[in-house]
Amino acid sequence: MTPVTEAVRADTAYDEVVPDEAWREEVRRLAAERDAVLLAHNYQIPEIQDIADHTGDSLALSRIAAASEASTIVFCGVHFMAESAKILSPDKTVLIPDARAGCSLADSITADQLRAWKAEHPGAVVVSYVNTTAEVKAETDICCTSANAVEVVASVPADREVLFLPDMFLGAHVKRETGRDNLHIWAGECHVHAGINGAELADRAAAQPDAELFIHPECGCATSALYLAGEGAVAADRVKILSTGGMLDQAKETKARSVLVATEVGMLHQLRKAAPGVDFRPVNDRASCRYMKMITPGALLRSLREGTDEVHVAPEIAARARGAVQAMIEIGNPGGGE
Ligand code: SF4
Repeated sequence: MTPVTEAVRADTAYDEVVPDEAWREEVRRLAAERDAVLLAHNYQIPEIQDIADHTGDSLALSRIAAASEASTIVFCGVHFMAESAKILSPDKTVLIPDARAGCSLADSITADQLRAWKAEHPGAVVVSYVNTTAEVKAETDICCTSANAVEVVASVPADREVLFLPDMFLGAHVKRETGRDNLHIWAGECHVHAGINGAELADRAAAQPDAELFIHPECGCATSALYLAGEGAVAADRVKILSTGGMLDQAKETKARSVLVATEVGMLHQLRKAAPGVDFRPVNDRASCRYMKMITPGALLRSLREGTDEVHVAPEIAARARGAVQAMIEIGNPGGGE
């Protein structure tokens, strides 16, 4: 199903809902009544993260959804993530509080575009980052996360061409790490991550010379960060290229007193909870995903009351997409994706 990203929702009754104690009680009551497990992505607003049963990155949450005994999954994240939960849990009801919550990265390639690209490179192996629609995953040989993208591409025989999509910054990172010439990269990007640029990073790093840098490889600055490290402008051991799940692990281990974080700002909430003694600051405090923020307290309440918006994936699409996700899980440690 294509997310109705730009559709206009007519009902505005829930717009004024505030996340107070009464809201929390009502959300918990309705979730129990509906036999629902509440999942929240790391980029959700803090109130949604705090009410959820589980918070994490996209793949970790899909696995929790599949393992859960609950008959309903309420996925507070963007549409492709809820689709992934449905792909891995086809018999469960999957709800997303607002189906308009799309993803500019996932929307940067359609299944038709991918089929045309494949036709230009017959025999190529298609590797797709998890930020893709179910229809694109169904056209994919192996999915990957930012944690295992290098291993997944390295697992493809050296003489086979690879089509890597949709993120060009993650693709550049993989190409650099694997040294492959026959890796073709789709020119997609996330508007949030692309907005975090190298110049900003260099300024912030110079202003805080003792800070570590946590960088998500989808960021436009990932290449710049490695370049700066190579130039000696930033000590190489200060630069950590990490998935969001990897950031949380590193937060618990770091000896640094301050960390500059280059990813969506919602991530700061979990990092600060994980390591309260560390001063986490965003590289760009405007790096906020408007799609993630469509999951408002009111939208969650509406979802639980009305059983909306239900996520459907056609069984034959889900079966093919599941094959690509399972192929990923068999190669290395997939970590958690975005
Ligand atoms: S931050 Fe970017 S990649 Fe992540 S959900 Fe938003 S638009 Fe998509």
